[in-house]
Amino acid sequence: MTDKFVKTDAEWKALLTPDQYRVARRGGTEPAFQNAYHAEKEAGTYQCVCCGADLFSSKDKFDSGTGWPSFSRPVAEGVVTTAQDHAHGMLRVEVLCARCDAHLGHVFDDGPRPTRQRYCMNSTALNLIPQKK
Ligand SMILES: [Zn+2]
Repeated sequence: MTDKFVKTDAEWKALLTPDQYRVARRGGTEPAFQNAYHAEKEAGTYQCVCCGADLFSSKDKFDSGTGWPSFSRPVAEGVVTTAQDHAHGMLRVEVLCARCDAHLGHVFDDGPRPTRQRYCMNSTALNLIPQKK
């Protein structure tokens, strides 16, 4: 398994921008469409903004029309974990970075074949590393 990447709240605050902290460490949600990657087409790997773990590939990104970057699967097994989220009177499945427990977004089962999964992520929690050309 991956080694855990643990920091104190004060360390995260110092490391991240206020937006990154609010989304990734406090379970916030960025506004639809007003975020960096919802329409991003560049090839590359999306890393965790907190710890740099590889999380998603542009190969699995699709246009969900929701205004958030959406992926049909993580880049590898075990890089994300899930938890039940009861916030806002709904039961949703929260997606977290397996290495540092950053809040990334939610996963829904209305995605494209073959996985039928839609990982609805916050751009703020991700950092796109473009593929070397
Ligand atoms: Zn992480």
